[in-house]
Amino acid sequence: MLISRLASEIRPYVAGEQPQEGGWVKLNTNENPYPTAPFELPFDRAKLRLYPDPDATELKRAVAALHGVTTRNVFVGNGSDEVLALAFLALFDAHARPLAAPDITYSFYPVFASLFGIRYETVPLTADFSIDFERYRGDFGGIVFANPNAPTSLASDRAEILRLVERYASIPVIADEAYIDFGGESVVGDVLSHENLLVVRTLSKSYSLAGLRVGYAVGSVTLIDAMERIKNSFNSYTTDALAQAIALNAIRRQDVMRENVARVVATRARTVAALRALGFSMPEPSANFVFARPAGASGKTVFDALKAKKILVRRWDAPRIEEYLRISIGTDEETDRLIRALREIV
Ligand code: PMP
Repeated sequence: MLISRLASEIRPYVAGEQPQEGGWVKLNTNENPYPTAPFELPFDRAKLRLYPDPDATELKRAVAALHGVTTRNVFVGNGSDEVLALAFLALFDAHARPLAAPDITYSFYPVFASLFGIRYETVPLTADFSIDFERYRGDFGGIVFANPNAPTSLASDRAEILRLVERYASIPVIADEAYIDFGGESVVGDVLSHENLLVVRTLSKSYSLAGLRVGYAVGSVTLIDAMERIKNSFNSYTTDALAQAIALNAIRRQDVMRENVARVVATRARTVAALRALGFSMPEPSANFVFARPAGASGKTVFDALKAKKILVRRWDAPRIEEYLRISIGTDEETDRLIRALREIV
């Protein structure tokens, strides 16, 4: 065998399509339709001779100030996917008690678990797609969920999350808040009083920097130190110098992020109203996407018909959700095109 058993057996995560030619209305990967805060490329090329700051100190300082914690409570990584992967390695033991996650959630979690040999157990969402934290048991080795959840866009209650975190104080709990700037209640302000709580954030969505690859985690020194130990056993320089500088600029410009988020949220309200008028049903969205089910046609039919009109959305051939489409919120013009197309389809 030329390759490892792991490489031959793993079923990798399948990312949404990134068509390289123009002409698409791209509503399939929850990117922000508006650009990030303006910046000048912040240094001359000679600076790239040097390795970047392995601790991303300045960026950590800005994130720490934003959330009212210290830099020792902040971990920075190459996109929140990497932050999550390193958190899994740092917090969950292979072959020990299973990691628990909702049955319908971000589909990278089970891939990380299988990559790292972590047992993975799913806990069903309720019939209306909400996370029922009472269903999570104390004999799990860890718990991970997204808030708002993906692909449902439904937010969970902060009080319910905290009850879970407090009930199982010796179990690490990861709250993936990739979409929290678009709605829902964050628990990032609760990490200092809850040693087992890790909050993961990304700059890919609300900060419009999916192409840059920067994410971070906020948590107790115990959790963050563990993640640093794993990271420094893997790659000292996960975020490059340009990424650190541009991310720092974006974090400092909360005004630009807030303005972009407000526009997306306004367009989301329009999209929800238009979809409901067309007979779609959906959970109340809190993220920069909606999870909508057509009334008169199957999810697959509508997905294919949109694609034929060069409008890309996302759909999964999975139990309970195969009739739904996850539609990212684009510009108002993109939304108009989407709604016009749907009027012809459904
Ligand atoms: N968490 C959730 C719930 C997501 O939907 C995504 C985006 N696919 C990520 C994390 C990862 O985002 P990124 O790696 O771009 O930070």
